[in-house]
Amino acid sequence: MKDYKLLTPGPLTTTDSVKQAMLFDRCTWDDDYKQITQKIRQQLLALAAASPGAYTAVLLQGSGSFGVEAVLTTCIGREDTCLIITNGAYGQRMVKMAEYLGLHYIVCQVPYGQPADAATVRLLLEANDAITHVAMVHCETTTGILNPLQEMADLAKAYGKTFIVDAMSSFGGLEIPVQEWKIDYLISSANKCIQGVPGFCFVLARTEALAGCRGQARSLCLDLYDQWQCMEKDGKWRYTSPTHVVAAFSRALDELAAEGGVSARNRRYRENNKLLREKLKSLGFAPYIAEESQSPIITTFLFPYSDFDFNRFYHYVKERGFVLYPGKLTDADTFRIGNIGEIYRQDISLLGDIIEEYMRAEHHEHN
Ligand SMILES: *Cc1c(COP(=O)(O)O)cnc(C)c1O
Repeated sequence: MKDYKLLTPGPLTTTDSVKQAMLFDRCTWDDDYKQITQKIRQQLLALAAASPGAYTAVLLQGSGSFGVEAVLTTCIGREDTCLIITNGAYGQRMVKMAEYLGLHYIVCQVPYGQPADAATVRLLLEANDAITHVAMVHCETTTGILNPLQEMADLAKAYGKTFIVDAMSSFGGLEIPVQEWKIDYLISSANKCIQGVPGFCFVLARTEALAGCRGQARSLCLDLYDQWQCMEKDGKWRYTSPTHVVAAFSRALDELAAEGGVSARNRRYRENNKLLREKLKSLGFAPYIAEESQSPIITTFLFPYSDFDFNRFYHYVKERGFVLYPGKLTDADTFRIGNIGEIYRQDISLLGDIIEEYMRAEHHEHN
């Protein structure tokens, strides 16, 4: 098999040094290891501009969805009602979780191509006194659309609601001052913009909010409160922790700092995303999301013509060193290109050349 770089929204391409951090087998109850966990927790709070004390970081085994479900099951009580704002598959997944968990919930369904809209949410809050929580995805990775996070958090607070955000694919790649924006729960995972490998998720929680959730979870393994209580003591994970993944993540956090923090990483992502969209536009690929709502994380492109053979295109590009991502829309033929991870300008330029070459060859066949 030929090596390739991932142009997907996670797992993504990591540095060699992040991978090398996994080449040692660490002991879970040894102090050195527990200190790695504690350091990660502090670094995550710092990335979110949240002060320790007011906020806490809890790491949890499992992929990102486990973190979302842990928050929903731990933090939403039997008498509570959650307003779930959705404009994509990950919002839909929250709805499905709420259904499985038997939560009271109301869905605010937004068309996939549009950002969540504050006026609509305000009307729902006005009309439903029962709502206690509001949950939304920040960057909907389904399309790459960016929802207005600060605006929604403000709105939730104005109505005295607990605010939950799935910032899986944005945290670390976009500035999210969790404390200033009064976000109660933010969920993300190891293998997105912090550029670690897959294996665990994490939650940044307003301490006072989480402290009130004791005994509320309907799942033992996903009980975020219990996980927090154990980890808070000295950094020990409740149940076996993914030691290699944690070591890689710690290394990835140090590398994020060395790059210049979230603002520098955001700049790299934005510039690469801009270059990608410009290049593809010149080759006949129109983006699905309007520029003002487009995230710098992943872009959805419409097929350039109706009989475009994505499978063939995918393999052509893969053989030349890059893996793309299929689309996830039911109403339009699309594919996606992620630009997070260890990806630089020269990668995007090279990808542009490969796609140009493909389109030229296709054009010859078409005529
Ligand atoms: C990646 C992602 C998730 C989590 O997916 P997992 O496959 O469980 O890691 C959730 N929400 C969003 C917006 C994502 O991008």
